[in-house]
Amino acid sequence: MIWDQEFETLPRKDLEALQTKRLRETAERVYGAVPFYKKKFDEAGMRPGDIHSLKDLGHLPFTTKSDLRDYYPFGLFAVPMEQVVRIHASSGTTGKQTVVGYTRRDINTWAEVMARSLAAAGAQRTDMIHNAYGYGLFTGGLGIHYGAEKMGASVIPISGGNSKRQIIVMKDFGSTVLTCTPSYALFLAETAEEMGVDIRKLKLRVGIFGAEPWSEKMREEIERKLNIDAIDIFGLSEIIGPGVSIECIEAKRGLHIFEDHFIPEIIHPQTGKALPYGEKGELVFTTITKEAFPLIRYRTRDISVLYPEPCKCGRTHVRMERVSGRSDDMLIIRGVNVFPSQIESVLMNVEGVEPHYLLIVDRQGNLDTLEVQVEVNEKGFSDEVKELQVLGRRIEKDIKDLLGVTAVVKLVEPKTLQRSEGKAQRVVDKRKI
Ligand SMILES: [Zn+2]
Repeated sequence: MIWDQEFETLPRKDLEALQTKRLRETAERVYGAVPFYKKKFDEAGMRPGDIHSLKDLGHLPFTTKSDLRDYYPFGLFAVPMEQVVRIHASSGTTGKQTVVGYTRRDINTWAEVMARSLAAAGAQRTDMIHNAYGYGLFTGGLGIHYGAEKMGASVIPISGGNSKRQIIVMKDFGSTVLTCTPSYALFLAETAEEMGVDIRKLKLRVGIFGAEPWSEKMREEIERKLNIDAIDIFGLSEIIGPGVSIECIEAKRGLHIFEDHFIPEIIHPQTGKALPYGEKGELVFTTITKEAFPLIRYRTRDISVLYPEPCKCGRTHVRMERVSGRSDDMLIIRGVNVFPSQIESVLMNVEGVEPHYLLIVDRQGNLDTLEVQVEVNEKGFSDEVKELQVLGRRIEKDIKDLLGVTAVVKLVEPKTLQRSEGKAQRVVDKRKI
């Protein structure tokens, strides 16, 4: 189902005219209200009135994560605090948190793009939405929540954690749509199994998963273990939260970006040069309807590709490839660029292991080392040391062949790696450089 038939299927020409108008309005707002942007625009020799088409976007300055830190906490807000009705923040792994604000209209915009997202995933008013994203400063929980209420569905604001209770609620309340991180969905499947509940037989129909990179193989695994359609959702608090883009259930191929609110670009991560459709690079977003915290050309560090081809669902909005990693999550091991998601893809192609793994990077002398700890499943688990050795060597060979990096694979017993109830911790980098 398409939530907003008019705006989600706008002909490209009309969409681009709308984007240009909204971009100019946003530029005027930030130029007048945010000293950081006035300075940046002046340095670039650009005035908001110079924006006549989308081509002019390329002349505007970038905004980076470190700009957000420099103006912590409220220095980039474009409205006085009395107009701000909500604050969210994302915990930085290093340094200060990123703080974002919303006006009443921003909250409405967010609920609108989330309602669109839920509809794209196949959810309806009659659904029971089991929202296991964390509630709080993190945007996941409340973002999904407001969208589900706007749609008119029934929301269960269960938040993350207390997994046994999640299964009981799922079973007793008849949850039909599950929203959480993909790794947590698999953890819930294991929890159900331990409790003797056949999760495949519950009423769950669709899962909407995001907030961490995952692979096509992991989708297959989730769909099989939970007997649902697994849909990828994307968002980041800086841009609005969840609801920046989502896959449609008709195609499950690429995530439609709600372009009447967010203009996407792909740039070369090193040079900053804009790349054409179809090329892989860093995803950049400009918000064109936000009031409290508009961002111009925000560099997300997420790696993706944009596809303009029409989609069978009828939406005209461009699609982005599922995020394959982050340019700052990227590990450089002996000069080779490695994304944890690539290792995951290798593991998911091997019989007998589970998608639970931990990458330990270290340095011996001047040489980087990579250890991959991965769980074998009950089927792959064997008392025969020899058989396990063969399995381990095979994974090492696959990693070497596909990624060009040497790894030592350590197989561990089923269910021994720590499970996460939020974003999975996949990498321990012990190198002191
Ligand atoms: Zn589509």
